[in-house]
Amino acid sequence: MIPIIVPVFGPEEQAAVAEVLRSGWVVQGPKVRQFETALAEIVGAEHAVAVSSATAGLHLALHIAGIGVGDDVVVPSLSFIASTNAAWMVGARPVFADVAPDCPNATAETIARAWTDKTRAVIAVHQLGVPLDRAPIAQLCAERGAVLIDDAACALGSLHDGQPVGRDADLAVFSFHPRKVVTTGEGGAITTNRADWAERMRALRQHGMSIAPADRHQSGANEHYGEPGWNFRMTDLQAAVGVEQLKRLPTIVERRRALAARYDTLLGDCWDVAPMTPRSADTWNAQTYCLCVMPDGGPAGARRDRVLRFLNARDVGARRGILAAHLEPAWRDHPRGPLPCSDAWAAQSLALPLHHFLTDEEQRFVVATLREALALSE
Ligand SMILES: *Cc1c(COP(=O)(O)O)cnc(C)c1O
Repeated sequence: MIPIIVPVFGPEEQAAVAEVLRSGWVVQGPKVRQFETALAEIVGAEHAVAVSSATAGLHLALHIAGIGVGDDVVVPSLSFIASTNAAWMVGARPVFADVAPDCPNATAETIARAWTDKTRAVIAVHQLGVPLDRAPIAQLCAERGAVLIDDAACALGSLHDGQPVGRDADLAVFSFHPRKVVTTGEGGAITTNRADWAERMRALRQHGMSIAPADRHQSGANEHYGEPGWNFRMTDLQAAVGVEQLKRLPTIVERRRALAARYDTLLGDCWDVAPMTPRSADTWNAQTYCLCVMPDGGPAGARRDRVLRFLNARDVGARRGILAAHLEPAWRDHPRGPLPCSDAWAAQSLALPLHHFLTDEEQRFVVATLREALALSE
């Protein structure tokens, strides 16, 4: 099987985990702090707050922004389901925005179309690591008094106009799930330039506790609970892996970009698929190589699904590209406007294997098998 992704681990990660085990301190402690410092530097944000997942990060970001019951949160339906579920987690109502026809991201225009008089926040997703055209969205939110949260779960290592994704965000959320470019097993982080928010999120991720367990351990001071919170902590075992992974980020992104460019070349003459090519001013981290299978007039998604089954039967670990929350049972009955571009992306998009160790031969096999599948399903 040629897998869709393979994490890049080496002796460095193994040694880092062994060191944490030997220390006897495995929960959130010095390694988490080290991971946060390194991440803040890469993103160019003042603060990074590590949490147990990007989903927990979105939940915390909405909470810190004061979003809750009675509020609407505009979010693209075309995203991993956690983007939508996060609004539900704080008791708010998700309102689905469509995406662009040629890029799987929402735009200021699609977000404005979804706006309601209760909209207090927007979750804007840098889908598949493709940087958002963020400035017009930020302007819209500022004009209408809503908080903008960047769902940058897939976008660590992507640049927009030369700046790392997340740098200019009030709240940007990153994921370290193995499906992303670097991983801690499970893990997430929120970056922000606001010191008050960073401090409060550090308390909220550990039950609202005023002092970190590692500090209490050292100082003997009593902790206090200023407000109710959650247990959203990352462990030092995970953070130790994360510190090593962040060192690998430039190499991993460079390799992924080269492999994505090679897919573009190998498929350049194939009219049955449309590659998703980000705007040239951006530098994409190539988190997922996704293309759209041109429909054949049959039911939506039928041709893509046939191609996918063929690829999987030949041990090519392709996957459907991006889901749309409004088409899943969890949100199917949720009120919404028309979402034609999200419908098309959800039905046509296909993700091809793209991992650090993918060989030229394997990549040629993926492309040849895809061509075979497309010819059969004409
Ligand atoms: C992966 C992903 C998430 C969730 O990340 P977890 O760390 O698994 O919780 C959220 N949003 C988007 C866009 C994602 O791709």
